Amino acid sequence: MSVKKRSVREAQSSGKHVLVRVDFNVPLREGAVADDSRIRAALPTIALLRERGARIALVSHLGRPKGADASLTLAPVARRLGEILGRPVALAADSVGDDVATRVAALGDGEVLLLENVRFHAEEEENDAAFTQALAKPFDLYVNDAFGTAHRAHASTAGVARLLPAYAGLLLEREVSSLGGLLDSPARPFLAIVGGAKVSSKIDVLKALVNRADTLAIGGGMANTFLAATGHPIGRSLAERDRMADAEAILAAGEKAGHTVLLPTDVVVAPGIDASAAVRAKTVAAGGVPADVAIVDIGPRTIAAYARSIGAAKTVFWNGPLGVFEVAAFAAGTRRIAELLAEATGRGATTVVGGGESVQAVEEAGLASRMTHVSTGGGASLELIEGRTLPGVAAIPDA
Ligand code: ADP
Ligand code: MG
Repeated sequence: MSVKKRSVREAQSSGKHVLVRVDFNVPLREGAVADDSRIRAALPTIALLRERGARIALVSHLGRPKGADASLTLAPVARRLGEILGRPVALAADSVGDDVATRVAALGDGEVLLLENVRFHAEEEENDAAFTQALAKPFDLYVNDAFGTAHRAHASTAGVARLLPAYAGLLLEREVSSLGGLLDSPARPFLAIVGGAKVSSKIDVLKALVNRADTLAIGGGMANTFLAATGHPIGRSLAERDRMADAEAILAAGEKAGHTVLLPTDVVVAPGIDASAAVRAKTVAAGGVPADVAIVDIGPRTIAAYARSIGAAKTVFWNGPLGVFEVAAFAAGTRRIAELLAEATGRGATTVVGGGESVQAVEEAGLASRMTHVSTGGGASLELIEGRTLPGVAAIPDA
């Protein structure tokens, strides 16, 4: 499952020209970095390499450019990284070519250069052989710290790792051991809480978890499909009628494995999922949802039941909000689960949160530092949980 990969800590990097793939795909606002969490997540690896006197070039993508696109330059990232490091970080005008080679050759020990958005070249996502060679050319070593892109076989993730001696960065290493550890040898009872919008986008995650976790607790929009599949009226709730068979299959798999699958027993309903509907929100039994409302959150009895499972668990993995948490009146379930996980960490349980919106919810609640691990990779973390091989990880030699 999670095989240990050769670590940047073991690399002889002093004085070497090191290409480091990072995930600087940050949100921008008015030409500045709006949230620098992803930049900060790469700092331990950058700091280690600087300490060792490596000559560092960072490479990343930003957004989905079709060819060179001035609105997706990494210039704001170079500025922000320079502020954080306390010394300016130069940005090369491209990610390959003579100018990059000249700038890399001129780097002193511990100096950092940022290469321009690697996706300005379509060959990056094609994992094109000639482009991969051009990318690798000025360097002695390669370090991959871009966990968020590790599920993609691109030139700067999987490609270069086959051409240069490759090592796992500290962030990538931590992600793989934290998430992979859930699959390998979780302390039991192991509870998985899965919410979010749809069954269809999480079907493989649900299948993997129902077989591995002692208890699978379901919430969010996807719980509606499970409730419908078990004969409960769900009114105008978001649900995927064409996924009811998948929901049934998950329930059957849980039964076969002798694992518990928990569904909401009460829910918060409202005329719609927007803030204007919040004033008419109320709690009803999961079996008594009127035809003209939508389920927007789990109810207090459900929270209490999930709280008991969290209280008993030694390992908890959580992905996906339990309700429409973007609307304050529908955020109670998600918020409470985040708090309960933080408390569980405090009494020694291993708590891992992975996803897009679920991580956002934990951060907004100010609880990220109180989890054992909060993953930086949305899609990549789910693929790892599904038990899939991530090309960017597989390309790094085993330790
Ligand atoms: P994650 O990014 O954490 O994996 P998803 O992308 O699967 O989570 O789903 C997040 C979205 O699910 C949120 O935007 C939230 O509003 C939505 N959601 C949660 N519960 C419901 C619900 N009952 N009805 C509609 N949407 C919901
Ligand atoms: Mg999402």
